[in-house]
Amino acid sequence: MSDPNDHPAGIVHRGRFAPSPTGDLHAGSLLAALGSWLFARRAGGEWLVRIEDLDPPREVAGAADRQLAALQAFGLEPDGPVVRQSARGALYQDALERLMSSGHAFECHCSRADLAAIGGIHHQCVAARRRARPAVRFRVPAGSRVAFDDLVRGRQVQEVWATVGDFVLRRADGYWAYQLAVVVDDADQGITDVVRGADLLDSTGRQILLQRALGVTVPRHAHLPLVTGADGQKLSKSEAAWPVDPADPLPALRHAWAGLGQDPAVLAEATSVGGLLACARAGFRPESIGTRPVGPVVDIGRGALPS
Ligand code: GLU
Repeated sequence: MSDPNDHPAGIVHRGRFAPSPTGDLHAGSLLAALGSWLFARRAGGEWLVRIEDLDPPREVAGAADRQLAALQAFGLEPDGPVVRQSARGALYQDALERLMSSGHAFECHCSRADLAAIGGIHHQCVAARRRARPAVRFRVPAGSRVAFDDLVRGRQVQEVWATVGDFVLRRADGYWAYQLAVVVDDADQGITDVVRGADLLDSTGRQILLQRALGVTVPRHAHLPLVTGADGQKLSKSEAAWPVDPADPLPALRHAWAGLGQDPAVLAEATSVGGLLACARAGFRPESIGTRPVGPVVDIGRGALPS
């Protein structure tokens, strides 16, 4: 792993929040936004917002604009222009070509049925027939295991070869895969710290393999607690039933703060978004962030805060 402090001159910390526009901002995404913002502010660093609109079939019309308006209502203002992945295909293409010419990526004609027949994990092509438009996969070297130190969860070891196998960089339908785009963008934007929800913990090993293959710096990582619904299941942005209310930002910010394991008393006196965020910045204790899921979101404002 490259030295995590080896970043462009003068940048101590540049974080980001990178929502996919598949629904309105919900309690889980607000927790990730606030958490990444707090890490950046505490370090005296910068915080950016990137819209990950790579998958038009899953996109909800107007969601990106509503997410941005919600962030503004919650006082979470990015330190630079918002970028949209839909406008960055040339960067992904360039990275893909580099990976192909260095032997790290290959065209794959395997269908879902081909893969199902070999247990669903791609270690070599078994395609029954060639496709007009093949996918492109990253070649995960046999036995690859990736270790990293998560700032919240400690040492993590992921068996990428055994449990994931060769993963997709460009889908057969022509869309860019999240794994490639996120790595290219984090490198291009000089992101030093990836602070995001624990639902993405499993992707980190793949992303570190890609970062090494592309010769870019591996950022630091912190994976924040998931917010679960009343049924104990992870909230996803496509569950439109659980948006946070930008018109009433203080309860949702308090819930996100508590979900980050922080002391509710720190925000007790705050009566405005600006005042609350100032208290949060001053009182943030990253070492208090827990690893267990928090929720349910229906308890916002009723005093039933996560343990
Ligand atoms: N776009 C991803 C999501 O909304 C987050 C990507 C990331 O933070 O790496 O789940």
